[in-house]
Amino acid sequence: MTEPDDRSLEQNLRDVRDAISKTAESHGRDPEAVTLVAVSKTVPPERLQSAIDLGQTIFGENHVQEAKEKWPALRERRPEVRLHLVGGLQSNKARDAVSLFDVIQSVDRPSLAGALSRECERQGRRPSVFVQVNTGVEAQKSGVDPLEADRFIRECRDAYQLDLVGLMCIPPVDRDPTSDFALLRTIAERNGVEALSMGMSFDFAQAVAQGATHVRVGSAIFGARSWPQAPRA
Ligand SMILES: *Cc1c(COP(=O)(O)O)cnc(C)c1O
Repeated sequence: MTEPDDRSLEQNLRDVRDAISKTAESHGRDPEAVTLVAVSKTVPPERLQSAIDLGQTIFGENHVQEAKEKWPALRERRPEVRLHLVGGLQSNKARDAVSLFDVIQSVDRPSLAGALSRECERQGRRPSVFVQVNTGVEAQKSGVDPLEADRFIRECRDAYQLDLVGLMCIPPVDRDPTSDFALLRTIAERNGVEALSMGMSFDFAQAVAQGATHVRVGSAIFGARSWPQAPRA
């Protein structure tokens, strides 16, 4: 039996995939060149299972601890699943991050790059990494300053020997993200970095128009998040 929830999940996934394809095509891009990362923070395992059954195999989480609780059992059954860490990472969680994730999108400082590098060596695992760039230079946001990005990218490759494949950004919420996306692309191009993780539920089409290779979409797929810890109104 299909639960109402699953029907909307199916519809949402189809809508998001269609929008990605249409936008890619209208910009002369191959839809296959855009990877949909379904951001599943707060989404319980049953719904993750439904999403996997609907053909979604690439997921993003923003907390190491939550991923550790939800994913190992699911992945045991569905080894095709790929997991991206899209949230900020503390260096003391580098060990778990390297063992749990296939891609770490939030590398933004030398201490973290060093911790990841040591864990890769120790575990003999080498997740792909993205450097997160703070395109809006917002004090409260993680990410390397755009002016420091070239140097940090070089360090990640040469000093830390990370498998650097892409750049990621989370633009300021209160402005049109087009210039942030364009800035990220410019930094990637001049450093020979291939992948661009940009665009979330409300702006993934704009991101695809600007060359995103990865979009990170949560609420447009799984619905609004309800936080168990949220204070009552
Ligand atoms: C939650 C989250 C997303 C997805 O956000 P939605 O607006 O729900 O699509 C994308 N990227 C990061 C880093 C996130 O934490």
